[in-house]
Amino acid sequence: MIRNLARDVRAFTSNVFLVTGETTALVDAGANFDAVVRIREHVDHLDRVYLTHTHPDHVENLPAIREAFGVETWGYDAESEYVDHAIGDGETVRIGDDDYTALHTPGHKPDHLCFYARATGVCFAGDLVFENGGFGRTDLAGGDRETLIRSIDALYDAIDDLTALHVGHGPSVTERPIDDLELAAQAARM
Ligand SMILES: [Zn+2]
Repeated sequence: MIRNLARDVRAFTSNVFLVTGETTALVDAGANFDAVVRIREHVDHLDRVYLTHTHPDHVENLPAIREAFGVETWGYDAESEYVDHAIGDGETVRIGDDDYTALHTPGHKPDHLCFYARATGVCFAGDLVFENGGFGRTDLAGGDRETLIRSIDALYDAIDDLTALHVGHGPSVTERPIDDLELAAQAARM
């Protein structure tokens, strides 16, 4: 089961997805709210934390989460203080009950990953794309629009079937999410 723990939080934070199952994991840690309390409403342990990237709004809750659950973190850039274990492009990681392919998708930030589960069609897209053709800003350090466009296209090409797009900000898309991905690919070129 996938829950967005930041869904009704009014603070400068990313979404925080708690995925329960064989490997109970968080996708992104968020910032500026008490994630530990919200995690404990559902589970008493965490096996892993996965990071789509290390912008402050996605990671600032990590110290409290690490301390409360003694959990280690996985992300693209092991040089980051927030990443204990590196994940390479194309690597498979277990999130909940499913295998997800990690796709290195820079453009918003150089260490950005998306996670896509072929068996279920679920994708965690971080800040690459958002609903209704939104896409990650490219004006921050390490951002680049052409690179972002290539990453959106690469995600599109990697996907067979998309049933749910869980994005870093705003609502998840479960109704024809492939349309939102196509819109983002177009909008990012304008
Ligand atoms: Zn970001």
